[in-house]
Amino acid sequence: MFKDTDFITNSKVPGPTKEEIRCLVISKSQLKKEDEILEIGCGTGGLTLEFAKRCKKVYSVDKNPDAIDLTRENLIKHDLLEKVELFQEEALNVIKNIDKVNMLVIGGSGGDLLEILEIGSQKLTSGGKIIVTAILLETKTEAISKLKELGFSVEIIEVNISKGRILERGTMMYAQNPISIIYTV
Ligand code: SAH
Repeated sequence: MFKDTDFITNSKVPGPTKEEIRCLVISKSQLKKEDEILEIGCGTGGLTLEFAKRCKKVYSVDKNPDAIDLTRENLIKHDLLEKVELFQEEALNVIKNIDKVNMLVIGGSGGDLLEILEIGSQKLTSGGKIIVTAILLETKTEAISKLKELGFSVEIIEVNISKGRILERGTMMYAQNPISIIYTV
């Protein structure tokens, strides 16, 4: 796993998704070396780099040009650029034109979640998987009901990570935002 401090960051771009959450996403994804992944909302590249390190190809999309530049910088820093194709585009424009992938990972959807899931689910190879990371309550409920409607078996976990900071007087636990991982099984 990359450390959070391994990433170049930028105040105009969200992320990286914290290391402990990346661990869970990678574990729940059950990805294989030969997998090709479509990632919507690459942000800083936190998840992009973890997937790129472990699978064949990642197609990463973000509508924010700063996010694409930053993800590229992080990929170059860790020598993973050749594994990733970057698209500075609205998710739906890319999904409609992409070939089949083994996994769809959604880290941001900007109000288009239902359509992204609808069209994205048609772009999966047989047995393909969908993973959504969600902070907003609405994203969690929308993702679960849409995936069920599309015929998937769905699981959700929600985690509240607290990380210790060693101080002179003792160890203080700092809470991070709760985050849900919704994934098909
Ligand atoms: N997982 C990332 C952080 C994701 S932040 C990391 O580890 O670094 C979510 C990103 O989704 C933002 O950069 C935002 O620009 C992007 N996004 C949201 N809606 C989108 C859409 N409809 N199409 C493309 N990108 C989108």
